[in-house]
Amino acid sequence: MKLLVVGSVALDTIETPFDKVVDAPGGSALYISISASYFTKSIGLVGIIGDDFPSDVIDDLKGRGVNLKGLKIINGGKTFRWAGKYHYDMNTRETIYTHLNVFADFKPVIPDEFKSSEYVCLGNIDPTLQMSVLDQVDNPKLVIADTMNFWIERKYDELLETLKRVNVLIVNDAEARQIAREPNLIKAGKKILKLGPEVVIIKKGEHGAVLMIDSVIFSAPAYPIESIQDPTGAGDTFAGGFAGWIAKTDDISEKNLRKAVIYGSAIASFCVEGFGINRIRNLSWKEIQERFEAFREITKFEVD
Ligand code: AMP
Repeated sequence: MKLLVVGSVALDTIETPFDKVVDAPGGSALYISISASYFTKSIGLVGIIGDDFPSDVIDDLKGRGVNLKGLKIINGGKTFRWAGKYHYDMNTRETIYTHLNVFADFKPVIPDEFKSSEYVCLGNIDPTLQMSVLDQVDNPKLVIADTMNFWIERKYDELLETLKRVNVLIVNDAEARQIAREPNLIKAGKKILKLGPEVVIIKKGEHGAVLMIDSVIFSAPAYPIESIQDPTGAGDTFAGGFAGWIAKTDDISEKNLRKAVIYGSAIASFCVEGFGINRIRNLSWKEIQERFEAFREITKFEVD
């Protein structure tokens, strides 16, 4: 297996100033897997759902080559549910509720055939569970992880332990400040680099993303979108595009990490154009490539 993805699979209720959806398929593992599937067909997903999760989404994942041997379906159980509300500034959101349901008893069991995965992408789940995944895999070339305020607030010490075993941490600006306990983003990034990860990527919503490795800083803009429908999952979609590109190219040089940031940003820019997974479900490679090129164009400048 090239890429192992572990995370939440959810039914999200999302409200923006423009629309509202109830129980839309989401969750970190779903966004990451769909996004990464544009780059590699060798993905193993580990997660948990109830029998209320829509079967067409399961079929869609299978059709993309995502191996679902690690997806546990609990008969009679209810899928994890999350509800969020965005206001006019779509960069900030309010969590209305988090109902763990079957996710409360989630103990990731990595199927034998996934254990030798070359790349591991740990979606936003309890850091203790992220650690248990790392205990079960052989020797991945790169461990990429995400987290969120929910876990930083509740499981800070466990998160610090997990970070010691993570190579690339992908977080948003507020999460970086919260982990590092430092208001300045660059200082926060540098502090995180001392906690374990060799690479930290800080996403700044509609202001792009910053990649930090030692003293190297690479800044990627966000694609200028005039009609943002729903930012939910953009961070996970970014992580999936990033991980997918690395898995496809098998190259973790700094040059290629920069490219991976742009591919992650390109797919994430599609994610926000629709509600939930709607837009990223139906992309063509041509669209992704065109957006990648558009990123080159908006960052190009000449000296003389
Ligand atoms: P993002 O917008 O990239 O931060 O991710 C949004 C996704 O995270 C939604 O699809 C939610 O279902 C999922 N999510 C929200 N809260 C949690 C949580 N505490 N643990 C795991 N996943 C969550």
